Parts: sequence; C-alpha cells; structure tokens
Amino acid sequence: MQQLGTEETQRAAAFLAGEIRKMATRPVRLMEVCGTHTVAIFRAGIRQLLPPAVELVSGPGCPVCVTANDFLDTAIAYSRLPGCMIATFGDMLRVPGSSTSLMAAKSAGADVRIVYSPLDALMLAKENRSRQVIFLAVGFETTAPAIAATVQAAEQSGVDNFFVLTAHKLVPPALRFLVESRCRVDGFLLPGHVSSIIGEGPYRFLTQEYDIPAVIAGFEPLAILRAVYTLVLQLHHGECRLENQYTAVVPPAGNPVAQQVLAQVYETVSSRWRGLGVLPASGLTLTSRYRRFDARQQIPVAVEPMRENSGCRCGEVLLGAITPRQCSLFGGPCTPESPVGACMVSVEGTCAAWYKYGTGR
Ligand code: SF4
Repeated sequence: MQQLGTEETQRAAAFLAGEIRKMATRPVRLMEVCGTHTVAIFRAGIRQLLPPAVELVSGPGCPVCVTANDFLDTAIAYSRLPGCMIATFGDMLRVPGSSTSLMAAKSAGADVRIVYSPLDALMLAKENRSRQVIFLAVGFETTAPAIAATVQAAEQSGVDNFFVLTAHKLVPPALRFLVESRCRVDGFLLPGHVSSIIGEGPYRFLTQEYDIPAVIAGFEPLAILRAVYTLVLQLHHGECRLENQYTAVVPPAGNPVAQQVLAQVYETVSSRWRGLGVLPASGLTLTSRYRRFDARQQIPVAVEPMRENSGCRCGEVLLGAITPRQCSLFGGPCTPESPVGACMVSVEGTCAAWYKYGTGR
C-alpha cells in the first residue's frame, strides 16, 4: 500500500478497498480504457487491493497499440522515397509493421526523425525546404487538436513541404464496438485526457443504450480506486450512471476551442484499428480545405500488402478478451526489447505494462 502515498491516502484506499470487498458478491469486469490508467493501476498495485471478484481489464487506449500495420507500412514506404523525411513521436519507431519497422528502415538509411511535438515537425519542414517532411499523426482526441493547429500554422506560414499521414483514432466508436463485441464489460473507467477534449456527452450511449455504468476518472491512485468503488457501488445497487469524477480537468462539454480546431481541420472517417478491423466513423482525416497537407493525397507511394504479425494476439488484448499472459509469445519471443506486437512497444501498452509490473519473466 505504500505506493499509494501518504498515510491519509493509504487509509482512504484501505476504506474504499474494504467497501469494494463487501459489495463484490458477484464477478464484475471493469475496463480501464486509457493506457495511462493501465500503468497507474499497475504502479500503485491497485489490482492487489481488489477482491478476486473484481477484475480489471485494459482496453484500446494506447495510441501506439491501436495503430494498424497498414499505417506503419505506408510510413515505412514513404521513408524510403527519395526526398522524403519522416517526423514521428519516438514510440512509433519500434512498432512492427507487416514485415519491418521504421527503426529498421532508419538503420538502412531512411531519414526518420524523432520529434516531441507536431510543431517540431513543422520546424523541420521550414529548415529543409527541398525535402517533403511527413509527420505521423497518430493518437486520440487528446493529440489531434495540437496537430490540427499545426496544419493551420503551416497554411498560415505558407509552408508547402509539410505533410501529415493521419491515423487518428476516436475513443467513443471503439467503445461502441467493444460493447457490441463478444467481450463482457460491466463498467468503464473512462480516460481523463480524452474526456478533457470531448467532455461527457459522447459517452452517454454507454448508459442510455447499453446500461453500462461509466466513470471519468483522474490518474492518481486514489482517484482510480474511487472510480472502481463507484462502478462497483452502482452495479451492486443495479444502477447505471455516467459520472465525472475528474471535473477539475474535464468540463461537462469538454474543450470547445479544441473541438473547433478539430472540426475545422478534420472530418470523421472509417479507420482501421490494430486487431479490431475497420470501425466506422472512428478516425479523422483532413478536410478538403487542408487536403494539400495530406501525404496520402499528395505523395503517391507503393505500399506492401498488409499482414498481421504472426502469433500476436494484440487484437484480443485490446478488447480485454485475453490478458497478455494468455498470449504464448508473451515474455518469450515478445518482450519490450524485442516486441512482436504494438502492445509490447509503448510504455502504456498493455503487454508492456504486464511485463514490467505484472509477471515479467
Ligand atoms: Fe502481441 Fe506480444 Fe502482446 Fe502477444 S505479448 S499480444 S505478441 S504484443
């Protein structure tokens, strides 16, 4: 319990855990959707505080993990084109595509640069006007507004060699897919960061159409435990509500400025999720106004046919259908040092979290 913090926090946690134990008279499966929650749960040892009847499973909330092979394959193909430079967040380098990774392409001579923000990528474009700089635009509603604003900045500054390769994903359509799939989830711990942009409204279908309670929660251990307690309490009393317990960061209507930028620059499209397939209205692409920054539209490239990584069960892990340990490659052929699938790459990936904090090897 020490990892929970002060004595006062530990007492509060012990109280909540005790109340959860009293109410846990039947098995419940709760899903934390966000990779940051997954790591926080492991780090604080929250699973160990819960009775066996309360199972926490991880969902499709790690942006690197849900990015499909065909996106990686396209990025790798671009990296090999003469004159192209890839700018990307570091995590994407080691994600395996169908047959190789950006890291391998970089080692073979491709110009792949790690950036820490989309503005860094725009700067690279300004500094390398003879090159076509392609920024890999991955992530959920949280990261998309900053990338959208960067596209607008590129337009305003007249930069014509900056492009984005989009693979943005939207969380609510993935949750709808999840609850309609074979996977049982009795309650959702909703992502704080994504919610700060989209607000409460897009999750209402969970309670209204599917009778599944949901709580928007912060990332402190006690906040997570309180959210679990609230979900168990609701289930115990046969109730079903959407609660926002992260009001300091998540206004009910979200962030209207970010939403406006998103609406100006992006439109909703079907998108392929790793292991889940193509989900309708679950991704973002540039609107026609900004199409000249769309790498796919502006720079033709031949991409190898997509193949899934042999033996990798990331799709089932992302659905909460299996735990990473149930994958036969976990901890053997697949480790953070040598990942077979995307869920083992990012520190927020479910398999990587299980490896680091769970069983390891
Ligand atoms: Fe894929 Fe590795 Fe996770 Fe198995 S352990 S599901 S191979 S990432």
